[in-house]
Amino acid sequence: MAIVVKKGQSMIIELDFLEIIFDSGKEHFKVLDIPHWGVEEGDQVAIFGPSGSGKSTFLHTLAGLLPVSRGRLTVCGHPLEGMSEVKRDQFRAQFIGYIYQNFNLLQGFTALENVLLGMTFSPRKSDPAEAKRLLEEVGLSHPLKYHPSQMSACEQPRVAVGRALANRPKLLLADETTASFHPVNKEDVLRILLDICNTHGCTLVLVTHEREVIGLFQKTVTFLEFNRACQGPLGGQP
Ligand code: ADP
Ligand code: MG
Repeated sequence: MAIVVKKGQSMIIELDFLEIIFDSGKEHFKVLDIPHWGVEEGDQVAIFGPSGSGKSTFLHTLAGLLPVSRGRLTVCGHPLEGMSEVKRDQFRAQFIGYIYQNFNLLQGFTALENVLLGMTFSPRKSDPAEAKRLLEEVGLSHPLKYHPSQMSACEQPRVAVGRALANRPKLLLADETTASFHPVNKEDVLRILLDICNTHGCTLVLVTHEREVIGLFQKTVTFLEFNRACQGPLGGQP
């Protein structure tokens, strides 16, 4: 499948010759080497790839959690190459929602407080009414006062979706969000994710190693096709 690259104002992600190299001092380990890629505003894209192919590294890079080693990467109109860590943190707080693979919910806080925490670093003020609305949208009207450990396996990811949307991000990044679920719960959570992104006008990029997940997405990409670092032996010298 050819990778279509579009350029223009409606692009929310644009990259050229993006490389991520982990440098241990003694060794260079190139995990990402992507010549070109782009995502249009409003798209819902699933990236499929095996474990260890660099999917989480890619999402971390898009979110500004990792610095760009080489090449160009523009997300939500902001060039991330050369951007300081502080600026990348501010960029993430303003534009990015992130659903971590293990959800990273804070166990000492209730569902509502977890969503409120998602607003903490955003330029907007914390808004409990908005946090409640978000939890209602993901189908959690009642367990607002419960802590994550008191919630079921399909309630926890809903809190994670609510928290990721709490700063009203332009781009939502989801890392293997359904990996540990029963197939029925998998589809439920995915549909909530796709619907809520539509409602909020939020672009979605999800990475997964599960083939059945990509069937629900209109746009899919195979990571091995566009990450050249996976195409030869991993860890080649940069
Ligand atoms: P995936 O999410 O597709 O399973 P990852 O992005 O987690 O893949 O990892 C890709 C490769 O990069 C793996 O070989 C992993 O060990 C390596 N890697 C990830 N993070 C680091 C790091 N901070 N330093 C060195 N190597 C790393
Ligand atoms: Mg991963």
